[in-house]
Amino acid sequence: LRVLGIETSCDETAAAIVEREPDGTGRILSDVVLSQLEEHSAYGGVVPEIAARAHVEALDSLIEQALARADMSLADVDAIAATSGPGLIGGLIVGLMTGKAIAMATGKPLYAINHLEGHALTARLTDGLAFPYLLLLVSGGHTQLILVKGVGEYERWGTTIDDALGEAFDKTAKLLGLPYPGGPAVEAAAVSGNPKRFTFPRPLVGEARLDFSFSGLKTAVRQAAEAIAPVTDQDIADICASFQDAVSRTMRDRIGRGLQRFNERFGPMAEKPSLVVAGGVAANKELRQTLQSISDGHGFRFIAPPLSLCTDNAAMIAWAGLERIAQNLPADDLTVSPRSRWPLDQNAQTLLGTGK
Ligand code: ATP
Ligand code: MG
Ligand code: FE
Repeated sequence: LRVLGIETSCDETAAAIVEREPDGTGRILSDVVLSQLEEHSAYGGVVPEIAARAHVEALDSLIEQALARADMSLADVDAIAATSGPGLIGGLIVGLMTGKAIAMATGKPLYAINHLEGHALTARLTDGLAFPYLLLLVSGGHTQLILVKGVGEYERWGTTIDDALGEAFDKTAKLLGLPYPGGPAVEAAAVSGNPKRFTFPRPLVGEARLDFSFSGLKTAVRQAAEAIAPVTDQDIADICASFQDAVSRTMRDRIGRGLQRFNERFGPMAEKPSLVVAGGVAANKELRQTLQSISDGHGFRFIAPPLSLCTDNAAMIAWAGLERIAQNLPADDLTVSPRSRWPLDQNAQTLLGTGK
């Protein structure tokens, strides 16, 4: 079976064709992504109206490219999968309406996919992972720890109560005068910095709940920078290194507790359990090292899919559609609406209720 995936929920326009063998193996036949980074960088963040227009301009030709690279026409795909939430509503409308139009014109089924479900199931495409496993999603818009129990079966164990982790990197970079997106800039500056110079807060560390909080960290960075103004390049490097150090220590505590809870819940398993990371912040080397070391400490495998599949892409959306087909879950009615908010743990109910 082959599915055309469409992704337009944020600032990447993407189309992909993915195939699934009857034994569950997935294969990406094509995967094209157009990042709108340049359109938004002057504003220091994603501008929804600009994003929506850019999706309209790019999507048709990206779908053609995805088909051409897979050496196929629409007649060769079995279904369409389009992201229908959560995300920026303008972009979601563009992608979902395009998916509906193709479905209507070709008579093929349409699957309206939760973007977070795409991230959650990616490790099954890349690593053939079996359920259950734990997913840490860390991007510009999300910071969530999710128990992935099955297709459409998710438990959100933790989420951020304020800023997302990527957002904290972006805001820290902005107030230090570093370029957007902030993550890579902060990571690069931190290389020559002293992580012990500042002791930044480690929000929620020690608490039993598995939530995250990063806005206090950003405030502490601002106060540190203001206290030493004018800041030198070395000050910036030290602040970035200390910021990353606080992030690592926070994640060590939060994720460590999550792994412990997983072990308590499932007990000894036939195979080593897995922790999977997704989202753009997965590019951060220090975070990866931290996650690897906590995983080792708790007897987990740490899985980091290739970065192109950690950030927003359409292969994960096509794959989520294939997973639903394999479970004999129903396709969506063409009256299905995009949803800017759509928590993943409501997926089971909404799958049955979509479009009705
Ligand atoms: P979503 O809707 O999935 O939240 P997004 O566009 O906000 O989408 P991604 O594209 O997955 O998120 O990731 C972008 C984020 O990742 C930005 O906040 C960026 O600063 C952060 N990031 C990228 N590289 C690094 C890095 N090396 N270290 C830390 N953060 C990084
Ligand atoms: Mg993005
Ligand atoms: Fe995403």
